[in-house]
Amino acid sequence: MGLIARSAALTERARRVLPGGVNSPARSFRAVGGTPRYIARASGAHVVDEDGVEFIDYVMGWGALLLGHAPAVVREALERALIDGVGCGVPHRAEVEFAERVLGRLPWAEQVRLTNSGTEAVMTAVRLARGATGRAGLLKFSGGYHGHSDAVLVSGHGDGQGAPSPAAGLPAGIARDVWLAEFNDLEAVELRFATHGPGIAAVIVEPVSANMGVVAPAPGFLAGLRSLCTRHGALLVFDEVVTGFRIAPGGAAERFGVTPDLAVYGKVLGGGMPVGAIAGAADLLQRLAPAGPIAHAGTFAGHPATMAAGLAILTAIGADPDLFTRLEAAGASLEAGLVADIARNGHPCQLARVGSMWTLFFAPATVVNWRSADAASCERYGLFFHAMLERGVHLAPSALEANFISAAHTAADIDRTVSAAAGALAEVHAYHR
Ligand SMILES: *Cc1c(COP(=O)(O)O)cnc(C)c1O
Repeated sequence: MGLIARSAALTERARRVLPGGVNSPARSFRAVGGTPRYIARASGAHVVDEDGVEFIDYVMGWGALLLGHAPAVVREALERALIDGVGCGVPHRAEVEFAERVLGRLPWAEQVRLTNSGTEAVMTAVRLARGATGRAGLLKFSGGYHGHSDAVLVSGHGDGQGAPSPAAGLPAGIARDVWLAEFNDLEAVELRFATHGPGIAAVIVEPVSANMGVVAPAPGFLAGLRSLCTRHGALLVFDEVVTGFRIAPGGAAERFGVTPDLAVYGKVLGGGMPVGAIAGAADLLQRLAPAGPIAHAGTFAGHPATMAAGLAILTAIGADPDLFTRLEAAGASLEAGLVADIARNGHPCQLARVGSMWTLFFAPATVVNWRSADAASCERYGLFFHAMLERGVHLAPSALEANFISAAHTAADIDRTVSAAAGALAEVHAYHR
């Protein structure tokens, strides 16, 4: 208890003044139980909590921190931005340079509009798709997460049995325009188009799912979505808030060779500062105000500090052609170690990984969609999570989330993680024997 006294005291204070004790639910440890660790300092791949305990961090800003915590290039860029005076709400040079640099990574896109979060970028992309097609329908996938704007919060199972249900606080009518399918199920998408095709404005998808744990697209799935959208006059929207600038310099569109009509970005792109972006062809983007009639605005959009940090990240990515090869190698090494741990342990676990994103599912079979992700044991993950925490490794505090390797994770960090997992898995196994 001594080692969490300060985090526990802060949790108690937080619960009095913040709903659920947090500003975003994923931080609350509700899914794993116990006391969230309040992080006092962070550097590279490591964080130190208020009680002075150090962890190897795999939360990594929920994927935002590609180069690890507080990389020098970002710190220096932010210091320079502060010296120049951090204003906002007026045009400035860095917005232009940032947009040019982003589009340099996205050869399929011609323009980009910046927002303050992934949520806002998705909200605006959905509005843009609806405005451009004159249709209201939205097709999304069970287990996908696209931020917390109304339309994309409609959820449920995409098997045609459970009707989509609006979340609390949404008007009931909102579910009328949202269709669901299971991830990786092209036939279900085809069926939705067959029935509702003329009303579907857009298909929105995380090209690699990160928010039901890491689930890779089956071969041909993204290309299949592309051709169905083209055939039915719907827009294909890639939610690349996690995958953008992480699984390849040009994100999933580059890695899988499938071109969306619109893509939204966030997380990595801000270099740790709040950001979102919508990219696409000029004839689509020009429909946004003031060039066109579709509303989007933001006092802080294109904020100088965000532009400085984002430019620093994009410069670092551009200057380091081996960066993504090293991230892949670190991911492969962690995967090999964890798979060996699992084999030795005999526990039914599935290690899923795409590049530097990974999830250990306590599930009986390979996870391909929400249905199979939902079969994973949250209770076992909770035991594993806390056993890892005790061994100095801070994983994502939920069974169905992605963990992230950064460029700052060293071979020694990976080795320590693999040996911690060997002990943690044995502990979970012993508990369930
Ligand atoms: C995090 C996330 C969002 C929302 O981004 P915020 O910046 O948290 O609003 C949207 N889509 C995906 C895939 C995400 O992981």
